[in-house]
Amino acid sequence: MIKKILIANRGEIAVRIIRTCKEMGISTVAVYSNCDKEALHVQLADEAVCIGGPRPLESYLNMYNIIQAACNTGCDAIHPGFGFLSENARFARLVEECGLIFIGPSPEIIEKMGNKARARQTMIQAGVPVVNGSRQIVNDVRQGRQMAQEIGYPVIIKAVNGGGGRGMRIVFSPREFDNAYHSARNEAKICFKDDEVYMEKYIVNPKHIEVQIAGDKFGNVVHLYERDCSFQRRNQKMIEEAPCFSIEESVRQNILADAVKAAKFVGYNSVGTIEFLLDEGGNYYFMEMNTRIQVEHPITEMICGVDIVKLQIKAAAGQKLELSQRDIHCSGYAMECRINAEDAANNFAPSAGRIDFVNFPAGRNVRVESAVYNGYTILPYYDSMIAKIITWAPTRLECIKKMRIALEEFIVSGVKSNVEFQYMALHHKKFIEGKYSTGFAGEFIEELKSNGNLV
Ligand code: ADP
Ligand code: ADP
Ligand code: MG
Repeated sequence: MIKKILIANRGEIAVRIIRTCKEMGISTVAVYSNCDKEALHVQLADEAVCIGGPRPLESYLNMYNIIQAACNTGCDAIHPGFGFLSENARFARLVEECGLIFIGPSPEIIEKMGNKARARQTMIQAGVPVVNGSRQIVNDVRQGRQMAQEIGYPVIIKAVNGGGGRGMRIVFSPREFDNAYHSARNEAKICFKDDEVYMEKYIVNPKHIEVQIAGDKFGNVVHLYERDCSFQRRNQKMIEEAPCFSIEESVRQNILADAVKAAKFVGYNSVGTIEFLLDEGGNYYFMEMNTRIQVEHPITEMICGVDIVKLQIKAAAGQKLELSQRDIHCSGYAMECRINAEDAANNFAPSAGRIDFVNFPAGRNVRVESAVYNGYTILPYYDSMIAKIITWAPTRLECIKKMRIALEEFIVSGVKSNVEFQYMALHHKKFIEGKYSTGFAGEFIEELKSNGNLV
């Protein structure tokens, strides 16, 4: 069994992982950049090692310093969290070559599923429905224009190594193609140091439905039901719920079965998520796989009563999955609001600064995942997410009502946040009906702007 884990991350996810390690009797080592000395994950871990300067490349993306820290402190495993090095096959391989356990799937699987164009091909082989699109990467603008014509507008150009909603452009007509193509490649180059792109049919008004998967090194794979992550701003999730409220039961069963089929096909041996798009006609398509723990994993933990980080650590340690599909039940509804330090009235621009005062919501079936505290300063170098508020209730409407109360209790001063915006969304008829698609949040923002109500 694993005795000591280095957590190669920061913020709420590092804190989340430390908590499970403590429950499992595993010692923890935090790493931090030299501006993160006061961070909560540093204070909660058993030990902490400074790994470099404030910029991610100097510290949280610095593979050598991280692995060195793990070796020097006698760790036997590294947990990458999400973002940063979590889907970096080279890092996973280096960790293993240094005799440590990487808490995630094998490097070969990350390689296979991390590249989106390659993952599409693999899923076609697995017999899982995939959005109509380019067979490989799009090398130049002429080839791209021709492919777009064949696929049929609208199309979406996507970075093969993309993530976090970056490196994507929707193109509605041939006139817009050239600009969109170049700007997608530019953004991909800046964000992912790799400007390869591919193309898909753009599905109009889809729902984003994803399935939580758990596997082990013995070929067992189960699903932990689905999440609806359709409330997105600029292709970035903001509110998630589980299970999906408005899906037909037969479609749900097919998506769950296909997700397990996809994971089994690649020999998936950790926890992960398979993302699908569901169109207005009830057809669904594989979109991508995230080979890591996800931001929104707590809502699945709430409806299934499992600790997903624990499953992930046990799988990495070579233990057999203790759950069979029959043991996993979905009960009630859960919802998560991602609270970001951003200024809704100013195009949701990041709002770094000192938190003078913060009050977290609490009460029955209210869960908060955060790493900020009174007097903490939000740094401009990292993600603007400051807290995740999670609620659970027997029915969806009760869950929404509980979330509204939780957001009322959430007070933060010193920085701007998207709490008020989310609070308003929770009162929108379309949201309450549960039938909203990925375009809904954007339309609601425009609606509020035109009424002068975006605060
Ligand atoms: P999810 O919400 O499904 O877990 P996201 O795509 O929102 O996944 O990513 C989770 C976190 O990881 C976010 O902070 C996001 O900015 C970051 N992230 C995701 N992919 C990448 C990537 N390829 N490079 C850098 N950061 C990423
Ligand atoms: P990331 O790695 O950034 O999470 P995804 O491929 O998961 O990228 O796409 C992010 C979001 O962009 C999706 O949740 C969806 O809202 C939108 N999107 C991506 N591909 C398509 C598509 N083919 N049609 C419509 N929307 C899409
Ligand atoms: Mg995605």
